[in-house]
Amino acid sequence: MTENTPSKVNMEKIVSLSRRRGFIFPSSEIYGGLSSCWDYGPLGVELKRNVKEAWWRTMVQQRDDMVGMDASILMHPKTWEASGHLSGFSDPLVECKSCHQRWRADDLEGDRCPSCGGELTEPRLFNLMFKTFMGPVEDDAGVVYLRPETAQGMFVNFQNVLNTTRKRLPFGIAQIGKSFRNEITTGNFIFRSREFEQMEIEFFVKPGTDEEWFDYWLEERLNWYVKFGVNREHLRLREHGKEELSHYSRRTVDINYLFPMGWSELEGIANRGDFDLTQHASFSGKDLSYFDEETKEHIVPYVIEPSAGVDRPVLAFLCDAYDEEPDKDDIRVVLRFHPAIAPYKAAVLPLSRRQPLVEMASEIYAGLRQCWTVTYDDAQSVGRRYRRQDEIGTPFCVTVDFKSLEDHQVTIRERDSMNQIRVPVGELQNTLQAKLDGEDLFVLPPGGQIWLEANKEE
Ligand code: ATP
Repeated sequence: MTENTPSKVNMEKIVSLSRRRGFIFPSSEIYGGLSSCWDYGPLGVELKRNVKEAWWRTMVQQRDDMVGMDASILMHPKTWEASGHLSGFSDPLVECKSCHQRWRADDLEGDRCPSCGGELTEPRLFNLMFKTFMGPVEDDAGVVYLRPETAQGMFVNFQNVLNTTRKRLPFGIAQIGKSFRNEITTGNFIFRSREFEQMEIEFFVKPGTDEEWFDYWLEERLNWYVKFGVNREHLRLREHGKEELSHYSRRTVDINYLFPMGWSELEGIANRGDFDLTQHASFSGKDLSYFDEETKEHIVPYVIEPSAGVDRPVLAFLCDAYDEEPDKDDIRVVLRFHPAIAPYKAAVLPLSRRQPLVEMASEIYAGLRQCWTVTYDDAQSVGRRYRRQDEIGTPFCVTVDFKSLEDHQVTIRERDSMNQIRVPVGELQNTLQAKLDGEDLFVLPPGGQIWLEANKEE
């Protein structure tokens, strides 16, 4: 992991690398792009899937007290009345250009942000939700909204999940999905866009235990970022002051990351109390309480919500992995991704495009593809190919050379140390798996050797 962020990295470098290597493109670029919308390219989609997969595996699969769900983006309009997202619909709002808080224009004295003194946008009638129409007639009865958060899908399904899973408190529901906000100010690449993805947990607990669970989740979520490669020194907690708490929140702490533009929110953890279940029970007329077997009482659980985006963590992983080091007359750019996050786990590089080398390399490539997302590169010198893989964060290169044809061994070259070992083809998959799981490169399989001979990169 690099200690160098953010001094070696800036947003231009990340945007340019993302564009050049196929991580992220501006949306609809051939038409001049669409403001604040982004398309994930072949490498970006792998990176983003890996981030979501790492989250799902840790937060859902490996826990006994969590279940997942996938609610629809369009929800009954009453949802947004109950959640409070619709109120203030026709209020003229201004937004602070620096801290992004919105204010009712008619409540303000003076022309600066009351919270941070920042410059304010022009007032306008504003609701952050995207509005559309369901069915063929564009009238008020058909109005629906694109969800501005995934959370409400989990609250309205609370009883369904309870009845079908028989979970007891404390337990959580987790969801990954798209959200949409018609943000007034966007920018900083994928940091703030109008269409984005979220990874959210609603963790239901007994009232009175909420403060403990809040601390627990704060720790869990911090550890998750560190486990998958973010330097702990680039993460900071920011407690919300009483005056900035959202209407539903008893306590909110943001996990901030040192992005190239400065410390900014990566994820928010909120104690939502019983606000949402109480509101939805009242607006729907349905009972959303929980029967506590111990006390034989119906209670409305409290909710701890760790709410992360997907795109901001993707950007944080990209920034934190970015490193540059001197390389002869040039600079070696390396994305030092954690193997679980790296788009490709390995690249197969035949030393030449001649047979029977290509046949052997293709067979190895086909075998590895059954286990992981891997790539194949036979263009230009091996040194150039190593650099290309370094720049996209591929942890290992597997080089097939002419000697491989005789001794049936291949070279594994590690991205970070650039060290190499030589292993029998039959041991390749197990060895790679062990290295991807964190084993030292120099722990050798039977018949393996530390490979000094090939250790010169052109
Ligand atoms: P901000 O103050 O930066 O606008 P927020 O406090 O409104 O963020 P939340 O409502 O807490 O954000 O949403 C939870 C998470 O969803 C955020 O921490 C962030 O990772 C992500 N998120 C929210 N809005 C956006 C957006 N416009 N673009 C990308 N990600 C977003």
